[in-house]
Amino acid sequence: MTVPPVPHAEVTVDLTAIRDNVSRLSRAADGAQTMAVVKADAYGHGLVPAAWAAKAGGAEWLGTAVLAEAVALRRAGLPGRVLAWLAAPGEDYDTALDEDIDVAAYAPWQLEEIAAAAGRTGRPARVHLKVDSGLGRGGVMPAEWDTVVEHALRLESARALRLVGVWTHFAYADAPGHPTIGTQLEVFADAVERAELAGAELEVRHAANSAATLTLPEARFDLVRPGLAVYGLSPIPDVATAAALGLRPAMRLAGRVALVKSVPAGHGVSYGHTYVTPRPTRLALVPLGYADGVPRHASGTGPVHVCGRTFPVAGRVCMDQVVLDVGDADVDVGDDAVLFSDGRHGEPTAQDWADAAGTISYEIVTRISGRLPRRYLGAEATQPGRRQQSDEARHHQRTEVG
Ligand SMILES: *Cc1c(COP(=O)(O)O)cnc(C)c1O
Repeated sequence: MTVPPVPHAEVTVDLTAIRDNVSRLSRAADGAQTMAVVKADAYGHGLVPAAWAAKAGGAEWLGTAVLAEAVALRRAGLPGRVLAWLAAPGEDYDTALDEDIDVAAYAPWQLEEIAAAAGRTGRPARVHLKVDSGLGRGGVMPAEWDTVVEHALRLESARALRLVGVWTHFAYADAPGHPTIGTQLEVFADAVERAELAGAELEVRHAANSAATLTLPEARFDLVRPGLAVYGLSPIPDVATAAALGLRPAMRLAGRVALVKSVPAGHGVSYGHTYVTPRPTRLALVPLGYADGVPRHASGTGPVHVCGRTFPVAGRVCMDQVVLDVGDADVDVGDDAVLFSDGRHGEPTAQDWADAAGTISYEIVTRISGRLPRRYLGAEATQPGRRQQSDEARHHQRTEVG
């Protein structure tokens, strides 16, 4: 057996953090069921290991945007309910129904394609109808709602589908108290009532993302759909840190210092010389760059933690590397350079990188490249059949999707 080489950089995912965050969220759901959202390769953490960890934390449901990820969950043996909510014409609904996946609809063409798949497979679909209560993205406009509900109920009478859910999504859940929240709740309640008056026997009404799960009890209904908080990041960073919300970031991104060298004062650093050394100093090269998902917008600002100290990236973020001005700090080749982690020992967090790049922590973790190996901690506690597994065997690449 070959031992994998020590990687120049890697992503470590603590699956026990995902498990514990999900149990924290399902306590917050306070009687409602919990759907752990694992879209986008579980926000970059690895679809299948993250999904098992969410199950270990008590998630009754798993949610994805694209159908291919929902199918990948089933093929990996994940049990329970799985909802996929994004579809384009020609979507492979046959496979969705064969794999017992719940599907979403917000347009008549979708209902027709779903019903046709039900006819071919002999499996009635479980459909969640989405109302645009004010996000202005997917969903049926309230003016069209009764027509689309009737359409769905006609197909239900023909045994092509079961209308099991009505759902919506907030525009401003991350700004607790924002006036649109109350308006969206009213539009949603009205849509639910109209569907039920028309004869729908709904199993679940759902609206809450992470922020609403944590801050808006009246939005919990029968099921909550947290995503970001599952991975331990704060959905309301202006209001509360992850730690204050009882969450622990699961992802750590680190490279290993590949070169340390002395340079004179006035030495331009990296493309465009946007940083020039103010004094004689030492530069450390870290083999992580924008091709790995490090945002180039964090040039000159992104924080990197080495040997107990945090240095901003000196100059531009390159495709595969960044440079730090480490001065006389005790930094050596081979040292761990942590871009983000759970922050418990003073390292930066994904939120710090989001602030440095002028974006949100969602984008920081989802953009980390598949070329970096993922190392999973806590697999024996969260993954079925993994109790005997060695460290080497747990050192595997990002989950394949689609
Ligand atoms: C992404 C997403 C979620 C989860 O949102 P977070 O803010 O990450 O908790 C929930 N519902 C829908 C429809 C989504 O697209």
